[in-house]
Amino acid sequence: MPTRNGQSPERLSWRVLLWTAIAGLVFGLVGLGEPAEDALRVARNTLHTHQASGDIVLVEFDDQSLRKVGRWPWPRSHQAALVDKLSNAGARRIFFDLTFSGLSRPADDAAFAQSIRRSGRVTLAAKARFGPDAGAQQDDVPLAMFARNAQLGSISVIYNYQNAVWRVPYASRVRGHTVPSFSAQLGGRSGTVGENFIPDYSLDVASIPTFSAADVLSGTDFAGKLRGKDVILGVTSDAGNDKFYLPGTGKMGGVYLHIIGAESLKSGTPVDLGWIPAFLFGLAAALLSLILRGTRNQTIALASGAAVLLLGPVLTEMRMVMLDITPGLFVIMVISTALTWRRYRVRGLVNPVSNLPNLNALRADREGGRKAIVAARLLNYEGIVATLTPAGERQLVEQIVSRLNVGDSSRTLYQGDAGIFAWFESRGQPFGNHIDALHTLFRNPARVGGRPIDLAIAFGVEVGSGRSLSNRLASALVAADEAAHDGLKWKYHDPETLADASWKLSMLSQLDDAIDRGEVWVAYQPKIELATRQIIGAEALARWTHPDKGPIAASEFVAAAEAHDRIAKLTDFVLEKAIVAAAAINRNGGSFDMAVNLSARMLVDKGFTLRLSALLARHGLAPQHLTLELTETAALGGNGEGLDMITRLRDFGVRIAIDDYGTGLSTLEYLKKIPANEIKIDQSFVKGIADNRSDRVMVQSTIGLAHSLGRQVVAEGVEQQEILDLLIEMGCDIAQGFAIGRPMSLDSLGKRIAMERKRNAA
Ligand code: C2E
Ligand code: CA
Ligand code: CA
Repeated sequence: MPTRNGQSPERLSWRVLLWTAIAGLVFGLVGLGEPAEDALRVARNTLHTHQASGDIVLVEFDDQSLRKVGRWPWPRSHQAALVDKLSNAGARRIFFDLTFSGLSRPADDAAFAQSIRRSGRVTLAAKARFGPDAGAQQDDVPLAMFARNAQLGSISVIYNYQNAVWRVPYASRVRGHTVPSFSAQLGGRSGTVGENFIPDYSLDVASIPTFSAADVLSGTDFAGKLRGKDVILGVTSDAGNDKFYLPGTGKMGGVYLHIIGAESLKSGTPVDLGWIPAFLFGLAAALLSLILRGTRNQTIALASGAAVLLLGPVLTEMRMVMLDITPGLFVIMVISTALTWRRYRVRGLVNPVSNLPNLNALRADREGGRKAIVAARLLNYEGIVATLTPAGERQLVEQIVSRLNVGDSSRTLYQGDAGIFAWFESRGQPFGNHIDALHTLFRNPARVGGRPIDLAIAFGVEVGSGRSLSNRLASALVAADEAAHDGLKWKYHDPETLADASWKLSMLSQLDDAIDRGEVWVAYQPKIELATRQIIGAEALARWTHPDKGPIAASEFVAAAEAHDRIAKLTDFVLEKAIVAAAAINRNGGSFDMAVNLSARMLVDKGFTLRLSALLARHGLAPQHLTLELTETAALGGNGEGLDMITRLRDFGVRIAIDDYGTGLSTLEYLKKIPANEIKIDQSFVKGIADNRSDRVMVQSTIGLAHSLGRQVVAEGVEQQEILDLLIEMGCDIAQGFAIGRPMSLDSLGKRIAMERKRNAA
């Protein structure tokens, strides 16, 4: 399900992949994975251990030999005897993993030299020295008297921090000559200096034919067992001080290295593909997981990628094709971790049933502040779901979602628990009809597994305020509940329902009495005509001065009275006072206009028109001198009833004003439909025209629009002279606000008008 930024919450961005690829490259180039790489290779080797060829025989100087024959090093006469015995037994070649570089007893040396010459098949070890003191001078080579009739073989190897050998050279440079390694010679392959291969440690070292040197010396019968074989002699006893770490086997005599190297070369041509192929494969698996949808598919892609990386080399390495896999694995692991983390984070923002973003996601919408919230509540949802399987619930939700998407499938739908859905609407759009239509759609039962399910739905709308999205959503839901309670399809949020209920109730019970006791009175706020700067009327505003609490804000008790259907008495009271006042001001034939606020509730009061005409007649005020102010939403709410009443009032001659214009659902259609004489632009816009461009545009275009429809424009809340001047420039008709006059007593208003008349007369 796409979110605001068009990104699937369950998928990763390309950027994550790019950075992972770069990190993987560095990982591979630096060789960070070496320890893990070695451990993995050892583990793989256990899956394909194989037997030695049997062509290479080890004659070991082991503990047993040293016990039987004597302490190490043995006199070279013993080595001479060994050469003779082995040659006589038909050995093909004899390799000594010992460097005979120093002199010993002359007689022994001579005997050894002679045996080498007699045999003609001896290879002696030479060793290039590495490290800071390296150089041809330090290279270990056999004495010339031995070397003269022998082959030379290099026993240099490359070992790592663990003293483990992971690379065996084909040849080394010793005293300026290229000397093929024991492994290369025994394995029957050649290569250049600097070229090396990864030995195959999957060889089972126990399968190497082995004889103890002591047994060979004592002439044990090995007839036939050595004929045609290559023999390598080396120290395996601890006394020899020649031990290496054999991966997968442990510490073993260095001689094994040469045998393992040789056996590796015998079983195939070792190829080292390095880390790039596995790295690319890991990247491909990561890429796939980015393209695929759904947790399951992504997991399958990554897990099978990892499995191939872990096990694939088992097959290739059986054919001596070596692969390094840690950079590839690294990529897969990073992507898996990132995905898991993302899912974990996203889980808090997604409804698990539908995968739609949930209400937390709605609350986090950054642009939500500028939009209206519509909340839908399936009233019987929990009761229905209790009878459904999880799959059934998913089916039901799918049908609900597809109905809610009718007419506008592009917007994001949010789903909460317990059958709550919500979305944003732009404030400028009229969506009342749309909600009506949606409500109608829900009259048809849903079908789950062939069973019809009746759905009951109600909608609530919060058009917007400075409050947090969380509060606004709660308000929209309260409005939906109220709509359901009142049997309406939908309802706007009433800001007052959130106020302190207990005070409101006691206040309400007191309001009627307060009117009777005279605590309620009417203030008048003058309105001037901008062209002439003359007072042309006033707005009547209810005031309640509570004996204990002092003045109570009009908005507070008016909204409370409205919400509880107690507004009629207040309205009638204010109307009467205002009509009496206007009639008095106009007694000498003036055209003073009195404005009275009319709550929406009054529009359904059948007796209102009658009472109004009676009042006007009784006090002698012409209907055209009375303006009734209606808030935008008041006229729209409910059915056509309100509009009928407005039309009747207009026909009767009373003027109609649209109050607080701009805060609700104002459209051209709406303006045309309501037969208002006057549009009062809400204070919030008027206050902004000096420094807010969009407020200025709104006021200017409203003036243009209203004039084109033949309506007058009143600017409310004018607090500064600067704003007044701007309004004149913009062609506004009438202004009201503290800059002109605060709401005042009738007495004060009378004095102000009298003063103005005197000035005009003068
Ligand atoms: P409203 O109809 O928008 O009335 C204008 C409100 O703005 C009044 O607040 C007024 O005192 C205030 N006002 C006027 N000029 C300025 C200004 O320059 N700056 C500022 N900051 N405020 C200004 P009030 O009297 O507290 O009334 C609040 C609301 O209560 C009214 O808003 C109206 O909706 C409602 N109301 C007041 N009297 C009645 C009534 O008799 N019947 C009904 N149904 N509603 C009433
Ligand atoms: Ca008003
Ligand atoms: Ca107003």
